[in-house]
Amino acid sequence: EVETGEHKEVELKPRAPVVTVMGHVDHGKTSLLDSIRRARVAAGEAGGITQHIGAYHVDTPKGMITFLDTPGHEAFTAMRARGAKVTDIVILVVAADDGVMPQTKEAIHHAKAAGVPIVVAVNKIDKPEANPERIRQEVSSEGVVPEEWGGDAMFIDVSAKTGVGIDNLLDAVLLQAEVLELKAPVDTPAKGVVVESRLDKGRGPVATILVQSGTLRRGDVMLAGTAFGRVRAMLDENGKPVDAAGPAIPVEIQGLSDVPGAGEDVLVLPDERKAREIALFRQGKFRDVRLAKQQAAKLESMFEQMGEGEVKTLALIIKADVQGSYEGLSHALQKLSTDEVKVNIIHAAVGAVSESDVNLAIASKAVIIGFNVRADAQARKLAETSGVDIRYYNIIYDAVDDVKAALSGLLSPEKKENVLGMAEVRQVFRISKVGAVAGCMVTEGLVKRSAHVRVLRDNVVIHSGELDSLKRFKEDVKEVKSGYDCGLSIKNFNDIEEGDMLEFFEVVEVARTL
Ligand code: GDP
Repeated sequence: EVETGEHKEVELKPRAPVVTVMGHVDHGKTSLLDSIRRARVAAGEAGGITQHIGAYHVDTPKGMITFLDTPGHEAFTAMRARGAKVTDIVILVVAADDGVMPQTKEAIHHAKAAGVPIVVAVNKIDKPEANPERIRQEVSSEGVVPEEWGGDAMFIDVSAKTGVGIDNLLDAVLLQAEVLELKAPVDTPAKGVVVESRLDKGRGPVATILVQSGTLRRGDVMLAGTAFGRVRAMLDENGKPVDAAGPAIPVEIQGLSDVPGAGEDVLVLPDERKAREIALFRQGKFRDVRLAKQQAAKLESMFEQMGEGEVKTLALIIKADVQGSYEGLSHALQKLSTDEVKVNIIHAAVGAVSESDVNLAIASKAVIIGFNVRADAQARKLAETSGVDIRYYNIIYDAVDDVKAALSGLLSPEKKENVLGMAEVRQVFRISKVGAVAGCMVTEGLVKRSAHVRVLRDNVVIHSGELDSLKRFKEDVKEVKSGYDCGLSIKNFNDIEEGDMLEFFEVVEVARTL
């Protein structure tokens, strides 16, 4: 039995790089993963029947590479938000017949925020309209510059369809990996991370584990997040039973008490009693402990020390209604940086605040700014449970003012919005001389005649102002509670439509917390 507390010389051995494929939808992430897998995973094993376990490894003449078979930055950042460092290298797929698209940029921001090097796969090179030169230019403008132009990123032309260039791409990944000098102990109890998991009707909880260090063996007692158990069965990515798996090897295991979440840590422990104890403790306390930790980390990170020098940084994510808004805001905020404090905008894009933005904020300890946009329901929920700060603005000056105050440490009381309630527009009546009257259902909280109102269409603010009237059954009323209908009109605004959401809020003065 291995005692964890004991001092032991642990020999580190080189390990394979773990790669995540990211890029814009339809640029060929899935095709690329399939084509690599089809061509390189030992053919004929398990009768050629491949099953999807969320990860696979390939052997090339120059070395092994492990791929996370869950394309997209969602999975990548969701794992990172849980504290799991899983990916060593990102392959950014850009279609040569298309170009840099919103999710291409998002992927670059997510990879950069994680400090993970990018290898660019310029895909669909077989297409007549492919223009690899233009792709290099467009990706360069996003700060990922090809080596041939003096940058540090490898760009490889490939076709996931014909297989052209795939060998070069794998070589490039291995070259990049060499620089990283990836090493892990082999002869120690395994540590790893959950890549995917599900409840199988016949087999119970099934999890794909990526071993990150040590060796996982059949019969080992393990802890995976809040689940525990003995490894009863272990399969490789071809569905073939294996007895042991070393660093960077993905395996599917059975025997856990519960289904762990993707990104949760896996640890082999000396005995089952210990594993159960920790699992039970985590089940009871996990949420609160994690939340408290995240909140503490968030406060610390607001002015995180950046290692060298004395530079403190405030990481920001900006989502806005139009490109002009986030560009203007980014520009204004970046100008606030001084020699001692730095504003670091890790992601700025058009659109509502999404779950993926919140995950990025958790992983990078950033504050999110919604400029004329709101968070969608999932994002709001995740932000609440994880303690991520989302701040809404509709005037650039206000946002700049807040950040400036935060940076200078002069936190004067701020005017804070107190959201009272939400109403949904169910019907619109256009009445001559009066204008548009909206028949609404109050869906959350309450609405007040005297409150400020904001009109949201698909989570984008299209108007902000005051009410002209608030009625129930033709009677003027001061307020209407959740679950009731009302009719209302908005001062100087007649462009209301069925399906619009109305957000009611009051402005109060409170001590600053940013
Ligand atoms: P994903 O959304 O990024 O996973 O993209 P897919 O892998 O689903 O590919 C989107 C579409 O592009 C599919 O119709 C693929 O067949 C096609 N495609 C992917 N790679 C290539 C390629 O190298 N050449 C050509 N001609 N088509 C490709």
